[in-house]
Amino acid sequence: MSAPRIEVRLDRLDYNARTLVDRLASRGVAVTGIVKATLGTPEVARVMQRAGVAAIGDSRIENIERLRAAGVTGPMTLIRSPMPSQANRVVASADLSLNTEVEVLDRLSQAAVEQGRPHGVVLMVELGDLREGILPSDLPTVARHALGLPGIVLRGIGTNLACQSGVAPDDRNMTELSDLVESLQSSLGITIDLVSGGNSANLAWLLGGGEVGRVNDLRLGESILLGREPLDRTVIEGLRTDVFTIVAEVIESKDKPTLPWGDVHQGAFGAVAGMADRGVRARVIVALGRQDVDPEGLTPPAGMAIIGSSSDHLLLDPGTAHLSTGDEVAFQLDYSALLRAMTSPFVDQVMLDPVGAGVGPTQAGTGSNRT
Ligand SMILES: *Cc1c(COP(=O)(O)O)cnc(C)c1O
Repeated sequence: MSAPRIEVRLDRLDYNARTLVDRLASRGVAVTGIVKATLGTPEVARVMQRAGVAAIGDSRIENIERLRAAGVTGPMTLIRSPMPSQANRVVASADLSLNTEVEVLDRLSQAAVEQGRPHGVVLMVELGDLREGILPSDLPTVARHALGLPGIVLRGIGTNLACQSGVAPDDRNMTELSDLVESLQSSLGITIDLVSGGNSANLAWLLGGGEVGRVNDLRLGESILLGREPLDRTVIEGLRTDVFTIVAEVIESKDKPTLPWGDVHQGAFGAVAGMADRGVRARVIVALGRQDVDPEGLTPPAGMAIIGSSSDHLLLDPGTAHLSTGDEVAFQLDYSALLRAMTSPFVDQVMLDPVGAGVGPTQAGTGSNRT
């Protein structure tokens, strides 16, 4: 098999998705499965759909188009505010989009009428994280505007926290969202059926017994894909953290001094910190670099350490392992590394372990297997 490659264990993905769908269902909340970190990979979307997510979401219309082209049916949500220039494509491929701007709603309406295809919208409300969102005081005006637009169906409201400023979802901001639903319903005489409370950062609040109020949907990416919540990156109880591994090949393995010699300046990516003289040690290069992955987000097998990285090289201290050229080393990835690897043209994607093999929670030590 070629390297570098990212291996996706579909049965573990299924396990995570099912577990979260079930846990949220017990609180009356549905899941929109977010596939943006996988570049809208159809196999990933299909596993999530079979696991019971209510819809698939992605931040890029290109990914949603890719899913449609691969024959993935079912509801799809564009979770980034549409670019006005892409309104036609958004209406053609997505059923729903998250919105904050009247001008964009107007463009979507025009496209929906032209295509004879109604488009659902969720209005995103700013509740303090200061990324996308309509200020709560402006929400009634924008909602009224949306209701008057032909081809547009106002499906609900939502919010997104913890992405720009790290504001955690809690009873206070979630109750504010529910209160906004109630006041919109009574002032406009409408029923709001979708209340999209946030992303994986909402899980601690929700599963910790938070006031669910009117929230009935969460948009979950990282928690399904990596088994972690994004506020502190702690493992969500029982979930698998080893759905994805990236495998790279050794291209040099030698014993070398630990200190460089010569007139030392910056490396290709800035000053090199923390070099200590530890004598002559094994030093391994794997063919993996910043064009493939975010090296800061990699976890090497137990006993090995990452010494450094540049565009195309990752330097490893192999510890007590003996690595030869041609050997493969498998790494765990964090969200940033996953995103970069899935969007790199140099990294192959391999789907393994079809659903149904019977997966349990993460076992100790699974993060450190060398293949
Ligand atoms: C990326 C994103 C999500 C998913 O976030 P995770 O932390 O991966 O669950 C949800 N909503 C919006 C608007 C996003 O941009």
